[in-house]
Amino acid sequence: MSRFFSARYADLTPYTPGEQPQNRRYIKLNTNESPFPPSPGVAAAVEAESRRLALYSDPECVKLRKKMADVYGLGPDQIVMTNGSDEVLNFAFMAFADEEHPLAFADVTYGFYPVFAQINRIPYTEIPLKSDFCLDPADYIGLNKTVVIANPNAPTGLALPLGDIERIVKSNPDNVVIVDEAYVDFGGESAVTLLNRYENLLVTGTFSKSRSMAGARLGFGFGSKKLIADLNTLRYSTNPYNINRLTDAAGQAALAENDYYMANCRTIIENRAWTTEQLRSLGFRVLDSQTNFVFAESPDIAGRELYSKLKDAGILVRHFDKERLQNFNRITIGTKEQMQTLIDTIASITGGDKP
Ligand SMILES: *Cc1c(COP(=O)(O)O)cnc(C)c1O
Repeated sequence: MSRFFSARYADLTPYTPGEQPQNRRYIKLNTNESPFPPSPGVAAAVEAESRRLALYSDPECVKLRKKMADVYGLGPDQIVMTNGSDEVLNFAFMAFADEEHPLAFADVTYGFYPVFAQINRIPYTEIPLKSDFCLDPADYIGLNKTVVIANPNAPTGLALPLGDIERIVKSNPDNVVIVDEAYVDFGGESAVTLLNRYENLLVTGTFSKSRSMAGARLGFGFGSKKLIADLNTLRYSTNPYNINRLTDAAGQAALAENDYYMANCRTIIENRAWTTEQLRSLGFRVLDSQTNFVFAESPDIAGRELYSKLKDAGILVRHFDKERLQNFNRITIGTKEQMQTLIDTIASITGGDKP
């Protein structure tokens, strides 16, 4: 730390992103990216748009929001587009949480929540998930705090039924409830259908997982007109051009080819079922995932050790050094071929017969 670093941030613990190795080619199952490339129209749109890079991007993302509105059945003024959904989450914390409206989220959930809370100096409570990693909706009913729920959750992969989300939203009418739907396209139930009934609901999403665009950084928030206007106040006060031209064009092209992505999601869901079954037959405990990853532990090998042996064998998965999660690894679902290699490698590491 330099002697110039503001005391405001002196004890900030930054988020630790998953490894993005540049030296060796791994089968990369550690950051929940899609194994499939973007749809063909995306490359063409980006190439064409690159000729206009001398000009600033559209701060209102008019065309992109219009296409989003059509796909999701909302009004364009219920939508804000952001630089990844991490940005909309940060804006939402800034806008809707403070000393009077402290944050509440699970003890095991997306690692960015405590970081955004800390950088914005918002008090927060971590509510423990049950011993089976399920979230108990009763813990959030009438809580009177700004609630953040990843649904489906990461890194557990478990989903809450929409009815539970609705009860939580309804019982906290004086606080915003943020539902982070980064993984909803892999089997969860979206809260988008509740938006027209609850003015305190904010739903966030991303093109990073189901739409093969993690590197383009495109996320979004859905809410009432007024919530979205508040988020825009913060966006215009930090970076009105948060969506660059190439990403804007890529996003529009992706939405025009949405069926391609939804078909890829079905493939991931099939590969997930296969991988879960194979891991279970190798003795693993695998939580019931509604995402593009599985969270699994072996009775035979410690989580950290399995992670490093897989890495030596050229397969990257994600291990979390958090107490409750020590024995687990989070494994992104890739192509069938990648999952076959994973299972064969795990079988040889644990000495089990190949299933
Ligand atoms: C990946 C992820 C995000 C954000 O991803 P972006 O790439 O910033 O859109 C948000 N929430 C959860 C739970 C995630 O796993």
